[in-house]
Amino acid sequence: MLKSPYHGGHLEVIVGPMFSGKSEELIRRIGRAVIARQRVAVFKPAIDDRYHHTHVASHAGRVLGAVAVSSTAQARRLLGGRGDLLDAGEQTLPDVVGFDEAQFFDPGLVPLALELADMGVRVVLAGLDLDFRGEPFGVMPELLSRAESVEKLTAICVVCGAPATRTQRLIGGQPARRSDPVVMVGAAESYEARCRVHHRLDD
Ligand code: ADP
Repeated sequence: MLKSPYHGGHLEVIVGPMFSGKSEELIRRIGRAVIARQRVAVFKPAIDDRYHHTHVASHAGRVLGAVAVSSTAQARRLLGGRGDLLDAGEQTLPDVVGFDEAQFFDPGLVPLALELADMGVRVVLAGLDLDFRGEPFGVMPELLSRAESVEKLTAICVVCGAPATRTQRLIGGQPARRSDPVVMVGAAESYEARCRVHHRLDD
């Protein structure tokens, strides 16, 4: 009998605004893989350039072990062990690889995720689909179109209680300006979940 070439590798993407439960859902999916005794690795973006062990936390307080990396090249090296994922051979790869805050990864995340899936790995990516302006965020559009499965979550609009699809950015309590940089050092900023009607952007 012919052996099926199907190995189950694929991409799953979880998107939505802040507070929509993306981290919770990532933790739930990875947690179930751990219960099934599968080998897992979870990555998140680091602010400094050294990788370190940390955790993914949901706003509701659930946590999961993760490795913070400064680039997808670093994640690739850690997965491959010898600097090149493709040289490492399938035996050393985890069964499931998760990425949290995927929108902050560099464009190398797309080929890395595709290579992993082609090698039989289940890749679960969680991230913001839209930035604070309501524009597609970084690598997310490409991941969304290449994924086998997409789950788009909503939060609750803090103004009216409707399903929230946007992330409202406030600086000093006022809506951020369209021209504000995505990262503002030292600014007293905060974020809220809002629906389309209550999402505000100053010009
Ligand atoms: P994300 O990763 O999408 O930012 P989390 O998984 O970290 O979301 O957090 C989701 C949790 O945040 C919810 O289960 C709820 O307890 C809490 N939460 C706080 N504010 C809101 C809101 N406006 N809408 C929905 N959930 C909220």
